[in-house]
Amino acid sequence: MSSELIPTRTTRRNGERTLTTVKADLCVLGAGISGVSAALEAAKLGRKVVIVDGAPALGGQAIGSIIGTLIGLYTHGPQAYQITHGIADDLIRDLTAEGSLLRMHRSTVTFQYDEVRLGRWMESKIEAAGIKAVVGAVLTDVAFKNRRVQHVDFATRFGGLRVEADGFIDSSGDATLCFEAGLPVREPEAPVYGSLNFLIEGYDLEAVKDLNMEDVRKRLKTHGAAYGLVRHDGWLMHFPGKSFMLANINHFETPVNPLATATMVFEGRRQADAIISFLRAEYANIFANARVRVYGNPGLRQTRWIVGTRQLTVDDIRKAARPADAAARCAWWVELHDTKELVHWEQFPDNHVYYIPLSCMVPADADNIVVAGRCVDADSHALSAIRVMGPCIAMGTAAAHALDLARTGSVHDIELSKLQKRLYDNLERKD
Ligand SMILES: Cc1cc2nc3c(=O)[nH]c(=O)nc-3n(C[C@H](O)[C@H](O)[C@H](O)COP(=O)(O)OP(=O)(O)OC[C@H]3O[C@@H](n4cnc5c(N)ncnc54)[C@H](O)[C@@H]3O)c2cc1C
Repeated sequence: MSSELIPTRTTRRNGERTLTTVKADLCVLGAGISGVSAALEAAKLGRKVVIVDGAPALGGQAIGSIIGTLIGLYTHGPQAYQITHGIADDLIRDLTAEGSLLRMHRSTVTFQYDEVRLGRWMESKIEAAGIKAVVGAVLTDVAFKNRRVQHVDFATRFGGLRVEADGFIDSSGDATLCFEAGLPVREPEAPVYGSLNFLIEGYDLEAVKDLNMEDVRKRLKTHGAAYGLVRHDGWLMHFPGKSFMLANINHFETPVNPLATATMVFEGRRQADAIISFLRAEYANIFANARVRVYGNPGLRQTRWIVGTRQLTVDDIRKAARPADAAARCAWWVELHDTKELVHWEQFPDNHVYYIPLSCMVPADADNIVVAGRCVDADSHALSAIRVMGPCIAMGTAAAHALDLARTGSVHDIELSKLQKRLYDNLERKD
């Protein structure tokens, strides 16, 4: 039985390029954990929100790069307490209930998550909140005049998109909105290495219980080069109750250069394959039949970030003095990936808490931009501590409230006491 032909029409592009325009109160650039946090908070405040991302789905690195564990939501130590709430509470509640989140309390509280389920959680929350989401849209231009972003243009595979809004959140991870607006940004002059996380399957689920990471690290140091490996530390994390593990164990450079994007994918995957060869040979009793189940996208740590009204320094976070414009609380340690071989760690005492000031999240010369996530202003060491997902969630919350208070005015003029009252849970709560 043949079905009827579907009629078609013939069309061609007019001389003019088509441009779809969307208007909103707030435009969020970047749908990673910080952008999603900002968008959901702003929608809760009754703002009309558009969230735009160049990737084909929401979630940023948390999903696409299979980060795998949520850290920085708690202080350290046996008496650790939660310092960031907002969407973190909903996420913990919902994903724990369905078995997609595992809470672990070692030196601090971390959460192992199922990235497929977290991705769907983000999508369903964004949809339910009535937020306009646009994916596959890469920023091409920012109209910046009189200290304000007027509109932002994007290229999509189906034509151009313009977003007009009162306020803009740059949660691009690479300070793209600020950079394209012509505002000053910082780039590291020596590499801060990225990693391509991947999932491993096919190993012995019983024998893996005896896997000793300290031994793996020692052997990476002595034998890794023979397999083409460069990093000597990192993690292999078996998901209890699952048949796969997450590997965060390679290092490569992540320059902000359009011609470097595929190189990162190829180099990250090459090192992932080399890890499999290393594990098969060196730990054959566990990994003889291991293989890569899925490669994540290249994970970028510290690429390009803003010049804020103030820069947070490693001394600030060591001293932990509370700034007058505190907007988020943090506890994560310095974790700088500044050599190919190893990670530089600086640990703080138990329950050490420090703050991200709003002034690190706002460029001095713009009135309607707030930055959230891994591209706020901090020196290399402080940024390595505040870029983890707990603080990213807290910065998203703060960015939404700052722009809600500013409306058509300036974020530099908002009443800090009002902002901090709204951010009570993320600045004061200790339960
Ligand atoms: C390998 C690795 C391991 C890590 N491990 C952990 C961990 O275990 N726990 C933890 O909590 N944190 C970890 N981190 C840190 C943390 O994952 C990231 O810093 C955090 O997810 C960053 O979130 P974000 O929202 O700031 O940015 P991103 O997740 O990078 O999101 C930015 C979004 O902006 C979009 N975008 C950028 N430019 C444009 C443009 N021009 N046009 C349109 N869209 C654009 C991108 O597509 C992306 O979706 C790790 C990081 C890496 C790289």
